[in-house]
Amino acid sequence: MAPDRRAYAADGGAQMKHYTDRVLVTGGAGFIGSHLCERLMADGSDVICLDNLFTGAKANIGHLLGEPNFEFIRHDVTEPLRLEVDRIFNLACPASPVHYKHDPVQTVKTSVHGAINMLDLARRCGARILQASTSEVYGDPLSHPQKEDDWGNVNPVGPRACYDEGKRCAETLFFDYHRQHGVDIRVVRIFNTYGPRMHPSDGRVVSNFIVQALLGRPLTLAGDGSQTRSFCYVDDLVDGLLAYMALDDAPPGPVNLGNPDETTIAALAEAVVSLSGSGSETVLVPLETDDPSRRRPDISRAADLLGWTPATGLADGLGATIDWFRELLRTIPEHRIDVARP
Ligand code: NAD
Ligand code: UDP
Repeated sequence: MAPDRRAYAADGGAQMKHYTDRVLVTGGAGFIGSHLCERLMADGSDVICLDNLFTGAKANIGHLLGEPNFEFIRHDVTEPLRLEVDRIFNLACPASPVHYKHDPVQTVKTSVHGAINMLDLARRCGARILQASTSEVYGDPLSHPQKEDDWGNVNPVGPRACYDEGKRCAETLFFDYHRQHGVDIRVVRIFNTYGPRMHPSDGRVVSNFIVQALLGRPLTLAGDGSQTRSFCYVDDLVDGLLAYMALDDAPPGPVNLGNPDETTIAALAEAVVSLSGSGSETVLVPLETDDPSRRRPDISRAADLLGWTPATGLADGLGATIDWFRELLRTIPEHRIDVARP
């Protein structure tokens, strides 16, 4: 919850004194970024949300606009900018395979040029900076569960490479700015995260299955559904991001953040159908090139360093997400809803 504006007005602006921490969230109008902005504001930070609205939406931050400790800047991270900030969460990047494959060159630029621009900003301001990296750096993993010392098994020339290799290069840049210029960095590798405010046409599996189930359409199950993922509820993820950023003298990472509860995609489809009370069937669709066969984080590093473990089980998290989508779909004419297929 954002601070109460009436309280702000009544105390003549004295509340502004609490907003000592100036935090930049790139990708702040996206799914995870909007939850992060909200939590930072509730914790008393002065939040600058930067986004080019490629996959994000003003609706995600509509309730924050006008708050005294919130600003929105429409900007592309591939362009430099000058700001004075204390902390930076660098989340700007399309995360859904459908979106990052749409303009792969721009995806690479967003990760690489975006990282350079934000690291230069951090260096100039002496700001601490966190990079939202991804489990995709492990590619189709050779180890299971994935630990941070797994160097990854990524196809550098495949259709997912714009995202995977872009994020890997961003990690390299973070560590080089740290070693070469002493920038205070934090690198987190986020595993599949879901929750309210995913875009209904986002194309990721949780939002696709929920929208399809709620509309009584067949769930598009890729391959035979035996591939696995481990799904983390967004509130848990944000707890982990905040805990790591708050830790002084922390190691640079990388640190896995995700829920180690692994499930097949077929089992996810069944859970969504059952929890939403839908009568939908599943329909098999081809598996995309380089779709990883399994994914589960080893989160012992995050547990040791931050005392962090996710608290939300899949059924509870899916329940909350289904409720949110049910409300959203009431506001959109059905013929205008088309999930992006894998
Ligand atoms: P999202 O697509 O909802 O959010 C990304 C945001 O970045 C959007 O608001 C988009 O408009 C913005 N953006 C994209 N390119 C930009 C650019 N060039 N300049 C400025 N803004 C730009 O996705 P999300 O799930 O909220 O992901 C947020 C971050 O977390 C991403 O960096 C993603 O790679 C990472 N991540 C997410 C997951 C997940 O499961 N959600 C998993 C691993 C990593
Ligand atoms: N998937 C699916 N149906 C969909 C969308 C995705 O079966 O409508 C599968 C996809 O092939 C992958 C898994 O679900 O095996 C997770 O896909 P998502 O795009 O959510 O994330 P990522 O592949 O990046 O982990």
